[in-house]
Amino acid sequence: MEPLPRQVIVAGAGIAGLTTALALAERGYSVHVFERASGLAEVGAGLQLSPNATHILARLGVLDLLRPATVRPEAVVLRDAATLAERSRIPLGDAAEARWGAPYLVAHRADLQSALLARVGRHPDITLSLGAAVRDVAVHMRGVTASIDRDGKVVEMAGALLVGADGVWSTIRGLGSVGRSRFSGRIAWRTVMRAESEAGRAFRQIAPAGVVTAFMHPTVHLVAYPVRGGGAINLVAVTAGEPIGEVWSREVDPAVLAEAMTGCAPELVRLVADAAPWTSWPLHAVEAGHPWIAPGGIALVGDAAHAMTPFAAQGAAMGIEDAAVLAHCLAARRDDMAAALAAYEAARKPRVARVVRRGAFNHFTWHADGAVAFARDRILAITPASRLVRSLDWLYGWKAPEG
Ligand SMILES: Cc1cc2nc3c(=O)[nH]c(=O)nc-3n(C[C@H](O)[C@H](O)[C@H](O)COP(=O)(O)OP(=O)(O)OC[C@H]3O[C@@H](n4cnc5c(N)ncnc54)[C@H](O)[C@@H]3O)c2cc1C
Repeated sequence: MEPLPRQVIVAGAGIAGLTTALALAERGYSVHVFERASGLAEVGAGLQLSPNATHILARLGVLDLLRPATVRPEAVVLRDAATLAERSRIPLGDAAEARWGAPYLVAHRADLQSALLARVGRHPDITLSLGAAVRDVAVHMRGVTASIDRDGKVVEMAGALLVGADGVWSTIRGLGSVGRSRFSGRIAWRTVMRAESEAGRAFRQIAPAGVVTAFMHPTVHLVAYPVRGGGAINLVAVTAGEPIGEVWSREVDPAVLAEAMTGCAPELVRLVADAAPWTSWPLHAVEAGHPWIAPGGIALVGDAAHAMTPFAAQGAAMGIEDAAVLAHCLAARRDDMAAALAAYEAARKPRVARVVRRGAFNHFTWHADGAVAFARDRILAITPASRLVRSLDWLYGWKAPEG
């Protein structure tokens, strides 16, 4: 089967796959997205969407569709979970938008996926097939042929490129027998409560509605912010935990979480008890160092390439950035797939590695204990907000290449 030179196959209709489809279609590619799930259910919970991601969503015409379901927080506030004392405040709102050229927003993942789907649905050059899992791929002289399982029947499709956007347990990454994901030893606990519920009202006593609040404690950290246009509050807690399998989320007994809350302020402990039901998410990360591309015509994006622990709140943002950079590299080297893919990988890996390091640093400081926690609090007390803001320029001020 002779592949059309502008045909791209995308495996996975999550945030990274849908953004990649839009970015490529904007550059004149014809894109077919295959999604294993037969329906795109409301999976996930809250996402912080920093300006490095929102400026891409704006460029792709997604942000206007998403905006009504988002909240633009005024600040990120760090608090001690034991005393609830404020330790630091990074201003967002207007200041973030002016400094980094796009808004810092918080949203529910399902709302972002819906906005992407609405945009995809209007694009004449994108086809989306649900209930279709990409099982295999052959790379040949003039592109790739993907084998797709639809209702137990395998069909083949040829293309110039296969993009693996199939998440942390990626089939496409696995086909190269490289880079398995590993359990990080951490569990994320997530719940979304209605702002007007009892738990929602109790939460607003601890932290105001219009900010992102992170509570720090040696055995747990919690992050809370509004989603659904302010109608709900997303709460995520991270503790140590046992591996619970390769699943995104599972309802579990919150006893481990309750235990990790020992020493936290009673109001916070009560809130966590009242905020049930919690789902727990095993945090897996993909080993760094494995290839993200096969020069003949495979590229990984999003969690498939670099699933990371969420401590820098950048997993989805990195998938969105991947999409924009991949589209740029392909358009800039239209006749040389291998060079385009090499440029994509070279551009993305160092930045993603830096984000992963930033996440590890956040985790270290948020879970600090004893003298380290004391030193952290002293440093935060004397560090002006302007310096904290400046230290984020490389991350939030990043702009996807144009043209
Ligand atoms: C607790 C927690 C908090 C987070 N907070 C943030 C945050 O604040 N900000 C942020 O930017 N990120 C955050 N993240 C990370 C973010 O949720 C993920 O990085 C992002 O959703 C991954 O998107 P993806 O499209 O790469 O993968 P996925 O969303 O996993 O999508 C992959 C898709 O591929 C499909 N699929 C799988 N196999 C196949 C196949 N063989 N063929 C076809 N389709 C297939 C799946 O069904 C799925 O729809 C957080 C994550 C967690 C766990």
